Amino acid sequence: MPTIVVLGAGVSGLTTALLLAKQKGNAVTVVAKHMPGDYDAEYTSPWAGANVLPMALEHDSRWERRTWPELRRLAAEVPEAGLHVQTARILRREVDVADGFKAALSDGLFRLSPWYREVMDNFRELPPSELPKGIHSGCEFTSVCINTAIYLPWLVGQCAKHGVHFKRAVLKHISEAANLSHTGRKADIIINASGLLACRLGGVMDKRVYPARGQIVLVRNEARSIMPTTSGCEDGDDEVVYVMQRALGGGTILGGTYMKGNWDPNPDPNIAMRIMKRAVETHPELTGGKGVGALDIIRHGVGLRPVREGGVRIEKEVIDGTWVVHNYGHAGWGYQGSYGCAERVVELVEEIVLKLQRKRVRSLI
Ligand code: FAD
Repeated sequence: MPTIVVLGAGVSGLTTALLLAKQKGNAVTVVAKHMPGDYDAEYTSPWAGANVLPMALEHDSRWERRTWPELRRLAAEVPEAGLHVQTARILRREVDVADGFKAALSDGLFRLSPWYREVMDNFRELPPSELPKGIHSGCEFTSVCINTAIYLPWLVGQCAKHGVHFKRAVLKHISEAANLSHTGRKADIIINASGLLACRLGGVMDKRVYPARGQIVLVRNEARSIMPTTSGCEDGDDEVVYVMQRALGGGTILGGTYMKGNWDPNPDPNIAMRIMKRAVETHPELTGGKGVGALDIIRHGVGLRPVREGGVRIEKEVIDGTWVVHNYGHAGWGYQGSYGCAERVVELVEEIVLKLQRKRVRSLI
């Protein structure tokens, strides 16, 4: 029975733990400093909207392609998971098309003929009559919005149902995880799903990982069911425009920012005002046309997206004599790539288990 310790209880660690626990014979423990229910800027997952807006380029689209069918299934068949269907609308500004989307938040999302047109349901290019002023072109497709305040605890519940154990701990070095299995045995395999903190974790210290600060405002007001995203923003290159209404009374998320290298965990009141102004402009129905003053604020927040220069790290290596499989660096797409990435971790774990079994057989001969 392989003994596995997953470091991290964000969407990456929990989804990976769930898929591993569904494989017969794995004894899985999740160890983390932060768990669902906690709010801390360095614990990214609770701050996400979250929705599905494919961001990768086609050659790198495996994670998002593989995840979409599962998120769609959860939205359709598992209401208690906290996802619901919402139409996404992507708007490409004329200025951003002209400069090749240099300032846009992702390479893949705003492409003129995106790969995801074949993957996302009900994809359609918007006719010129539906384009606002200053917009070159746009498209719409069926997406989902995930109420992360419900979905993360739901993942914990699913893990527990499949035998996963949970422990709070703050690790200085990745190797410490080897001694934290609930079985009392030394772990055969550690999964590193430490998100942004992979840049500070002993044995990993990945200097290519840095934050992209995302400030949001959560309000009680409701928006109609379209989630629009624009390729850029008049207020600056590190500000973005999105509005999404969460399932099951989760309120409406107004976003946002994408501030690379910025670690500030405190909401900036000036940025918050700009976010709210943009939201009531694009969605006057939020306040019945009464402006920012009529927004009913639940919370201001900041989450730090775990960006990694060169992209996500999903690979295996031996550290201090124990196999480690890394799964971190998901930037702004951790939910929409979660099942695809976790599936790859399961494949790597299976490869390691085979190696360990062969080694044991050889030692017996
Ligand atoms: P985290 O959620 O940060 O989890 C890391 C875990 O590791 C935590 O449990 C932490 O305690 C633990 N840990 C780390 N180091 C240690 C240590 N030394 N000892 C013990 N425990 C440790 N994604 C989407 O797909 N769609 C969206 O619409 C979307 N919108 C976003 C909007 C905002 C404002 C933000 C901030 C992010 C958004 N994202 C979105 C991105 C998404 O939230 C992240 O990619 C994802 O949450 C990363 O999850 P993670 O599990 O890798 O990291």
